[in-house]
Amino acid sequence: MGKILKVDLGTGATEEIKLNKKDIETFIGGSGLGAKYFHELVSPGVDPLGEKNVLIFMTGPLTGTKAFSSDRFEVITKSPLTNIYAESDCGGKWGSMLKRSGYDGIIITGVSEKPVYLNITDRSVEIADAKDLWGLDTFDTHNKLKESVDKKAEIACIGPGGENLVRYGVISTGGVHARVAGRAGCGTVMGSKKLKAITVYGNKKVKVFNQKGLIEFNKLHSKAMVDEFRGMKEYGTSGGLAGCEELGDLPIKNFSTRRFSKAENISGRYMAKKILKKKYYCGGCVIGCGRIIEIKDGKYKTKGQIGGPEYETSAMLGSNLGIGDLEAICKFNELCNRYGIDTITTGSVIAMIMECNERGLIPKKDLDDTKLVWGSVDAVIKVIHKIGKQEGIGKLLGKGTRAIAKKLGSYAPEFALHVKGLEIPAHDPRAKISLALGYATSNRGACHLQAFAFDFLGGNTISELGFPEPLDRFEVNKMPEFVMKMQNLMSLADSLKCCKFILFYFGDHVLTRLAQVLELVTGRKMDSDELLLAGERVFNLKRLYNTKCGISRKDDKLPERFLVQKRGEGKYEDFLPPLGKMLDEYYRLRNWDEIGLPERQKIKELGIEEYY
Ligand code: SF4
Repeated sequence: MGKILKVDLGTGATEEIKLNKKDIETFIGGSGLGAKYFHELVSPGVDPLGEKNVLIFMTGPLTGTKAFSSDRFEVITKSPLTNIYAESDCGGKWGSMLKRSGYDGIIITGVSEKPVYLNITDRSVEIADAKDLWGLDTFDTHNKLKESVDKKAEIACIGPGGENLVRYGVISTGGVHARVAGRAGCGTVMGSKKLKAITVYGNKKVKVFNQKGLIEFNKLHSKAMVDEFRGMKEYGTSGGLAGCEELGDLPIKNFSTRRFSKAENISGRYMAKKILKKKYYCGGCVIGCGRIIEIKDGKYKTKGQIGGPEYETSAMLGSNLGIGDLEAICKFNELCNRYGIDTITTGSVIAMIMECNERGLIPKKDLDDTKLVWGSVDAVIKVIHKIGKQEGIGKLLGKGTRAIAKKLGSYAPEFALHVKGLEIPAHDPRAKISLALGYATSNRGACHLQAFAFDFLGGNTISELGFPEPLDRFEVNKMPEFVMKMQNLMSLADSLKCCKFILFYFGDHVLTRLAQVLELVTGRKMDSDELLLAGERVFNLKRLYNTKCGISRKDDKLPERFLVQKRGEGKYEDFLPPLGKMLDEYYRLRNWDEIGLPERQKIKELGIEEYY
């Protein structure tokens, strides 16, 4: 659309910034362009919850077009959970509506004195009073705003979690469907700015260079894509949960043990049999991995149809807490969505407290009458309320595992499973070692999606990255190169803005296909090498920011549990990832020095020396 909206919540001033052609050529859009603005606007010492932090919403060149699964946007900020660079990707339908309102992105600076929301249309930008919305959960906020803005508007909002500065507040779109920018506390930054919501609406046309060609491209691929993802469409992302348990990938009791007999009961297959009503599709998607469920009676009855849990939630709030009751997990999911808090970190902090409690590391009085033991559903419900409202024990849990470990002292840090302050998601790095290196080096802390290499270790090939044969999940020697290239590819996807699942479908031809789509949409020709180089540039740009925050090899690590605790005997059960060895090779390939700082020459070659 050629312009970014800048809003200063402190002064109420708004301004339109023209997109610079060179910036688009260098950083593509989405996460890449957002990281560039972020670098320029936020110095490393800035307090994430202070007025000098910024909140950037960025679409990519594919957003709002008919390109597959491209209705996505990225939120970029400094994380109140990790105190380093943060980004969070979100699907749904908000991103394309932002574009149709006339903007490629929004940069929000300053802090409002009172609660407000931004009402953006293709005709006006208004900073409106949100007094009546403050305190409402995300579902009610969505419904109430629908009464006062255009009916077709898309809404991104925070819940009480973000308002109360729970360090892992999310930004939620789609109301009860809850497609969220979930990780690293982007919603908390929104809360610190007293910004309750951003509504977007517009009718502007998103221009496409070759619309006919794009439609033909879609025709050529959509049937095969639907076939490829038939399982995910039927059963959602948690369809393979029992298979994850079999492989040793599933988190069980804070990753402390190996087997979980109720895996099938919390899987997407079980959900499909019992409570699934519909599939949810983000804009432009033909796969539909989202779940819409309804529980008609019993203790966890829902008020009509609502979004159901996906894999990460079912695992982190299910097996990770020793809970094998899917309907209870749906309740946890609904509560986290209503409060607007990240289900991954919520699962991790509760599991940590359960383990610390089991080992007598928490004084009884601090437990606040919650019987936090493995499998205690009622206690989990009580604690989620306390986290969302920031009451009692919820005040401690709302700060994340790193802060909890510091407060409890003794050997509690052993049970705080995070990297750089961001909690480990629902995949065990002892089961697929790409995760070990991916978690250790991801720019936002422990993240499975910044490399997304682990799902390719199930027999897939990706020839254009130099891997024409499937890689074994325990292959040590080739893993550093694989993880590095996958990180570059995922940085590219986060900048173009497309769902990462479609990259599996493109498989061996992934770069060629992305180049085709980019050319059809923008007319810009980039070959495979240029595309991957752009991803590498963006990944390094984020690393440069983090190094200025003091991040180095000492932080590129894993919790000890994953490096020293074997889970049994046998070829796979006793495998521990050799992180140090893989890290040496990874740094060498990246042209980073032995303590993980990018070499100046490399940064120069990438064309981002001004950020060094
Ligand atoms: S596959 Fe799932 S996450 Fe990806 S665009 Fe489709 S519905 Fe959204």
